[in-house]
Amino acid sequence: MYIEKKYGCILFSEWSSIKAFGALDPGSNPGGAIMIEVLRLGHRRLRDHRISTHCGLVARAFDASKIIYSGEHDSSLLDSINNVHKKWGGSFSSRYVEKDINFIENYRGVKVHLTMYGLPIQKHIKNIRKHKKILLIVGGEKVPGEVYKLADYNIAVGHQPHSEVAALAIFLHEYFQGKELSKTFPKARLKILPHERGKNVMEVTTK
Ligand code: SAM
Repeated sequence: MYIEKKYGCILFSEWSSIKAFGALDPGSNPGGAIMIEVLRLGHRRLRDHRISTHCGLVARAFDASKIIYSGEHDSSLLDSINNVHKKWGGSFSSRYVEKDINFIENYRGVKVHLTMYGLPIQKHIKNIRKHKKILLIVGGEKVPGEVYKLADYNIAVGHQPHSEVAALAIFLHEYFQGKELSKTFPKARLKILPHERGKNVMEVTTK
């Protein structure tokens, strides 16, 4: 049941109302028990704020569970990701780790490093998909040599230099085979009602 339409937003009162829209099931998770944690190496507070934020947004939007940053500590980066999470829902989390090499060494799961020098994703994604707990590592300006050795897979998304954001998005899309696009985000305060023109955003209020 809708309450009011104002400023282009339809305001709803309960989850049950939202479920009536069909596609929005608060419990659904197309990834199931899969856990992909993204490690973004070597963040620089001044130069990388935007691109590191975008790594977090892409990771969250395309069904990774978590992003971990290394490099310079930047609480405003974690705040930016958290604010999106609060508004748009889901259970994504972000944190900082100081010693990234230690973190990779001690990680229990399969370690996939994205690099233009690696093996082609199109030939290896089928094998990687067999693993359900993955640390997905993307670099910044310079990636320490140890990362290539510690990784179980060094994977290229094409062999041209581009961006950690693009590499992340394409990897997740290939891994989830498009299911990530139907992911729903429980406890969202805002939801988009797709529209062929213009913006239609629904504000969700819980009693
Ligand atoms: N020379 C770097 C490399 O090893 O891919 C490019 C640096 S790029 C600015 C930053 C990050 O984007 C890389 O560390 C890597 O994670 C990702 N990246 C860029 N191009 C890529 C590609 N073709 N395939 C996979 N990852 C890529």
